[in-house]
Amino acid sequence: MPTVFITGASRGIGRAAALLFAGHGYLTAVNYSRSEAEALSLIDEIRSFGGHAVAIQGDVSDFARCAEMIKEAEDAFGPVDTLINNAGISCDKLFTDTSPEDWSRTFAVNVGGAYNCCRAVLPGMISRKRGSIVNVSSMWGVTGGSCEVAYSASKAAVIGFTKALAKEIGPSGIRVNCIAPGVIDTDMNSRLSTDDKAALAGETPLCRIGTPEEAAEAIFYLASDKARFITGAVLNVNGGIVI
Ligand code: NAP
Repeated sequence: MPTVFITGASRGIGRAAALLFAGHGYLTAVNYSRSEAEALSLIDEIRSFGGHAVAIQGDVSDFARCAEMIKEAEDAFGPVDTLINNAGISCDKLFTDTSPEDWSRTFAVNVGGAYNCCRAVLPGMISRKRGSIVNVSSMWGVTGGSCEVAYSASKAAVIGFTKALAKEIGPSGIRVNCIAPGVIDTDMNSRLSTDDKAALAGETPLCRIGTPEEAAEAIFYLASDKARFITGAVLNVNGGIVI
């Protein structure tokens, strides 16, 4: 059975992805940072339908911890051939209020997390000559978002990271893709009022915001062999709000 390691899987898009991969028979390593109760309840839910999952705590911005986490996943389930770099944080503030700490933390988690986990899995993937990595960017990484300069810049970096790494390791049999979600109904958008969400839905050709499950389906597709001739792609999952 294939093994997947999903960062930031205690809540939101990562949680939906964990349920989807586990439902398709993947041995699923669920990384979380602070939401232990949510991660453990997700493991229970996966086991309740006969799936296989393990929760692994760690901050993806910590290079050494990422190496340990991949080892823990491989000790539990065998080689990680699918990596989903989903963990992320927002940074919603005026650029002139964005502190050096805000800037560094946003990049450490959103870009550093992908770097750290890729560094940890790639030696094994390269030696086995197989692997699939999906990174989670954002529509703001494509277009830039006002009052989200640090976040937008970090998500644009994820796109550059994806494309460059795809070129470098394609010859080793490894694909690297990313999704660029639009507005998805998760805790990350809890600051939005009902009116804000309605206004965003009104700007969206498909007339609504997205669900975590819809973002997870796109991740699953890119990770799977159904996308075996796709690498370096940025797949919009946004209802058409950015085309
Ligand atoms: P969410 O509901 O806030 O969940 C974020 C997840 O990331 C949580 O599981 C959290 O774990 C984890 N996380 C945060 N910092 C971490 C760290 N340092 N180490 C490990 N895990 C960490 O957010 P979401 O909406 O599902 O977002 C998932 C991804 O989609 C993010 O990369 C986000 O930027 C991207 N995205 C979201 C939207 C949207 O509209 N929601 C749109 C575009 C892109 P703990 O709770 O355990 O700390």
